[in-house]
Amino acid sequence: MNLKTYGMAMFNKVFIESNYLEHPRVFRILEKIKYQDKIPINDIGDVWGRVKKPYLQKRTNLNLFIGAKKGQLVKEAPPAYGAGTQKHFYFIHAYNCIYECEYCYLQGHFNTPDLVFFVNHHEIIEEMKEVALNNPGCWFHAGEFSDSLALSHITGELPEYFDFFKNNPDEKLEIRTKSVNIKELLKLKPLPNIFVSFSLSSEYSAKKFDLKTPPTKHRINAIEKLVQAGYRIGIHFDPIIYVNNFEKDYEDIITNLSQVLPDSSLAYISIGVVRFTGDVYHQTIRNYPDSEISHTLFSKSEDGKVRYNRPMRKWILNKIREKLLPYYQNDKIYECMED
Ligand code: SF4
Repeated sequence: MNLKTYGMAMFNKVFIESNYLEHPRVFRILEKIKYQDKIPINDIGDVWGRVKKPYLQKRTNLNLFIGAKKGQLVKEAPPAYGAGTQKHFYFIHAYNCIYECEYCYLQGHFNTPDLVFFVNHHEIIEEMKEVALNNPGCWFHAGEFSDSLALSHITGELPEYFDFFKNNPDEKLEIRTKSVNIKELLKLKPLPNIFVSFSLSSEYSAKKFDLKTPPTKHRINAIEKLVQAGYRIGIHFDPIIYVNNFEKDYEDIITNLSQVLPDSSLAYISIGVVRFTGDVYHQTIRNYPDSEISHTLFSKSEDGKVRYNRPMRKWILNKIREKLLPYYQNDKIYECMED
């Protein structure tokens, strides 16, 4: 069975925590997906990831789990994660992703590619309130373990988060995506403290490495529509992968971007070079042996990350910054996960 990534997502089995079987949000999700079987379970943790499931089975055999996120719902982000000097936190409302970027860290992070939708958004928001109280002006990020927009028409949680940020104008939300699924956003009124951020790479790189994602030019069209609707935009040129024609490819994409995204609508641009933990690197080689990534010479840096050596990283980042500067202010550009 093939998984359709647009419109009606298709799953083999849907496992639902018994407490949530009658929850209106679960009804809404079930109405919007296709599935073969619905199975009540006690707790997602009893089943999800208990047995190792090969990552690439996501192509043909994907299950969905629905229930409550337990434990810590909002976590502090690692250093050098986001823009500015305020603290950054991420909240967890889903696990795993319908896309298949070859460098994706999820392939080495979880035991299974099966998707999880956490539906206890009110509890996540309660925890965000507390974090905001102790860290005024902080940032919250959605989409650390998933794409925040790709399935938002199914999960339907955006209005609840918009309400929170409307009532908490000092705190900021980043909704991070590679999708062009912006229809839920266009139904909502943009807020000055909500930023929609797009991960972009050159057309060539997106086609080669961001498997199953919308082409870069479609993402740029989505940015244009959101700018016209009044949204503030963040851009992540991350991860940048060096390939032949890298400079020209990125020059083209930055020129195209500048035509739809004026500096006044841009909040920040992060630039970062491809990097892996050891585990993810080995998974990538195993899953994509023919990829250009698998034939690239990386080195292991002091922090254990597999990546280009420092002079190469600096050279790449400087080149990208140089190409951005004719269009965007230097102080809006920051380097992600570089010291
Ligand atoms: S969009 Fe993000 S989460 Fe999804 S596969 Fe690509 S890198 Fe992974």
